[in-house]
Amino acid sequence: MEIFNSMTRKKEEFVPVHAGKVSMYACGPTVYNLIHVGNARPIILFDVLRRYFEYRGYEVTFVQNFTDVDDKIIRRANEEGVSTQEIAEKYIAEYFKDAEALGVRHATIHPKATETMPEIIELVQTLVDKGYAYPVPSGDVYYRTLKFNGYGKLSHQPIEDLQSGARIDVNDEKENPLDFALWKAAKPGEPYWDSPWGKGRPGWHIECSAMNRKHLGPTIDIHCGGEDLQFPHHENEIAQSEAANGAPFAKYWMHNGFLNIDNKKMSKSLGNFFTVRDAAAVYGYEPIRFFMLSAHYRTPLNYSAESLQQAQAGLERLYSARENLTFLAKNGEEGQPNEAEQAVLAQAGEYRDRFVAYMDDDFNTADAVSVLFELVRAANKAVGPDQKPTRAGAEALLKLIAEFTDVLGILYDKKEESLDDMVETMIQQRQAARKARNWAEADRIRDELKAMGIVLMDTKQGVQWKKES
Ligand code: AMP
Ligand code: ZN
Repeated sequence: MEIFNSMTRKKEEFVPVHAGKVSMYACGPTVYNLIHVGNARPIILFDVLRRYFEYRGYEVTFVQNFTDVDDKIIRRANEEGVSTQEIAEKYIAEYFKDAEALGVRHATIHPKATETMPEIIELVQTLVDKGYAYPVPSGDVYYRTLKFNGYGKLSHQPIEDLQSGARIDVNDEKENPLDFALWKAAKPGEPYWDSPWGKGRPGWHIECSAMNRKHLGPTIDIHCGGEDLQFPHHENEIAQSEAANGAPFAKYWMHNGFLNIDNKKMSKSLGNFFTVRDAAAVYGYEPIRFFMLSAHYRTPLNYSAESLQQAQAGLERLYSARENLTFLAKNGEEGQPNEAEQAVLAQAGEYRDRFVAYMDDDFNTADAVSVLFELVRAANKAVGPDQKPTRAGAEALLKLIAEFTDVLGILYDKKEESLDDMVETMIQQRQAARKARNWAEADRIRDELKAMGIVLMDTKQGVQWKKES
């Protein structure tokens, strides 16, 4: 398996720190409002990455944090006159509603900053003890950026460039403009924790370093997030973790490209965002997920009505193939799979090899999805109206398709309409159309059923149907 490592900017063979195991960390949301479709991109992609590692037989520990104390949460809590904890808990619950509806599994661990205070404080203390951090009279603690050899190595920025770009604030207590806060002294009205430097709260970067160390150890396999997190967030995580632990922080860095709208990054600050909730009300949740898989994770992806409609149409094709096969698995011929079915099943290994080859090539979901469509087309043909599908054949094809859809985390809609229900519903719709003397609609429904291999018979007892023989 090869992964493009943002650190080396090369595709590298994936070799885990511990054989057979994968430790993954993804920076999670700051919980002060609903997630937008841009935020959903990493959430969905890294869920698929985790599923894929599991499919390949790895034991995966996946950590995704919640930033539950932060300026934005405090502001929101003050606006609403409630505690920061109430805001955070509310939006964590909202996050899970969206994530579950998007088919995103819970991470192995979802740590919160507020539950990691002893470890955060311990990490800051270690950095102070080692001379990588310094407290200032106000009660803040800063990271001494220039002391860390290799600062800028992830974002590939020479330290001189960073220095010339850094803003100098006259009120700063920092030794250097590049230094960043590990611990912030509490201002009136803010939540605080006791620490060796007085009452305060952690900076954003330190929480990820502390959670990584607590839950995954000093060196993890993969650290992931959106590409906007490379600098300064991930650069700072590296500086903190490597200075404190004296070990490499993450073996591989994976960063997703932006979800754009009109070729601009979808973001809260630009105001050009749709919440997942609102987008799902129009297109449904699952098409949002499927849409994210249609492009390579590192390329920009444009959000538009057409692309979401395309995702809807693609999913419909997959669902209808599954419904048809599910019906046939119950109602097909008895006996061994027939020749047409066997011809597709005999190629299972090839479909699998190609699917895996694409996913192994830096997680190319777009081409992996196209292999799934090829398989579904072949399966549809093998059980088409001119064939005599067997239960065993349909069953085996369903299983093969599910192998891929489970990795991609699609077709999770549980309504699982059996073909029987669907045919009954269509017959009722046709009856209603006839009653309304809408002959065109009645004919259209009959033709649609015919295309599915269903023949209608008007009898005294009502409309009966059978599979075309
Ligand atoms: P934020 O809410 O900006 O802190 O972002 C939370 C996560 O969503 C981070 O991993 C970001 O990199 C990611 N993210 C935010 N906006 C986008 C976007 N438009 N496209 C892709 N990822 C994004
Ligand atoms: Zn982080």
